[in-house]
Amino acid sequence: MASSRTLGTFRLPPLPTIREIIKLFRLQAVKQLSQNFLLDLRLTDKIVRKAGNLTNAYVYEVGPGPGGITRSILNAGVAELLVVEKDSRFIPGLQMLSDAAPGKLRIVHGDVLTFKIERAFPESLKRQWEDDPPNVHIIGNLPFSVSTPLIIKWLENVSQRNGPFAYGRTRMMLTFQKEVAERLTATTGSKQRSRLSIMAQYLCDVQHILTIPGQAFVPKPEVDSGVVHFTPLTRPRIEQPFKLVEKVVQNAFQFRRKYCHRGLGMLFPEARRLESTGKLLELADVDPTLRPTQLTVSHFKSLCDVYRKMCDEDPHLFAYNFREELRQKSKKDDDKQSCRL
Ligand code: SAM
Repeated sequence: MASSRTLGTFRLPPLPTIREIIKLFRLQAVKQLSQNFLLDLRLTDKIVRKAGNLTNAYVYEVGPGPGGITRSILNAGVAELLVVEKDSRFIPGLQMLSDAAPGKLRIVHGDVLTFKIERAFPESLKRQWEDDPPNVHIIGNLPFSVSTPLIIKWLENVSQRNGPFAYGRTRMMLTFQKEVAERLTATTGSKQRSRLSIMAQYLCDVQHILTIPGQAFVPKPEVDSGVVHFTPLTRPRIEQPFKLVEKVVQNAFQFRRKYCHRGLGMLFPEARRLESTGKLLELADVDPTLRPTQLTVSHFKSLCDVYRKMCDEDPHLFAYNFREELRQKSKKDDDKQSCRL
């Protein structure tokens, strides 16, 4: 792959280093906010190259902080970079970058969890879902506590083709705790196979493209990071509503060491659990003695399709929650006990 130096004609002029910016604006990382910064521009260049060719791209960077990745994105020849940063202390340092890259960097002081990117870039960038992905990319190194809920939200957006995916199959490159990156990309049968693996892989092509050792960050976090690249699929591997898939997958992985029928059984009220679970597994042609980690995305497709039919036949089924049934049952038992006393 070409280096970022050859990708575009634009280069940032000489600027203070990220370390100097941190000193200048007193940007000490706030541990409670899990702020860990990347200061080595060779590393941020390498990360940004992994996003693919960004020439003339519109890039949405989430959580730029002191701006290491931001500089590498600007040097990659982008048409426009929009950054959303929650912590106001970083805005003056980012403003300095914006002054050095006239017309290229837009700064929003805001929260990535609520920011509406679907209105931020030109309409002309929009592509049909089946077309090649639009020249819009999301890049971010966020705190782990934000990146995991955010990817679930964005996967739901992929399934609905809204939010950042109103432009088409927008590609994303995000950093996670290494263990989460491994779960997102885990193959059938592997130890890390989990709910996240299925939710990500039924909607996207997912690649764990780089591991960043903890020492690369300042201050050094407890764990290493994994950079994951997502390209939404033209056709999802499961064609059912996101919430339904989420429910089936969540239940299946409830008891990850047991046979899959145990967790899947929790989709049904206790009174007819055995019968309904048997019907689900038989119609979906899934061996009840497979462990959840051994189920393929195609198994989940069959399970979701059959569960959907069962929900259509029984309008109360989708709302059923086994925890709620357990809670009601133990309340009744407590009431009986107190009547006896
Ligand atoms: N991207 C920078 C880097 O790699 O050096 C900073 C990384 S630091 C782990 C995460 C950054 O995300 C911080 O600047 C933090 O203030 C910002 N951040 C945290 N939560 C955010 C949110 N909900 N919306 C926008 N920015 C957020």
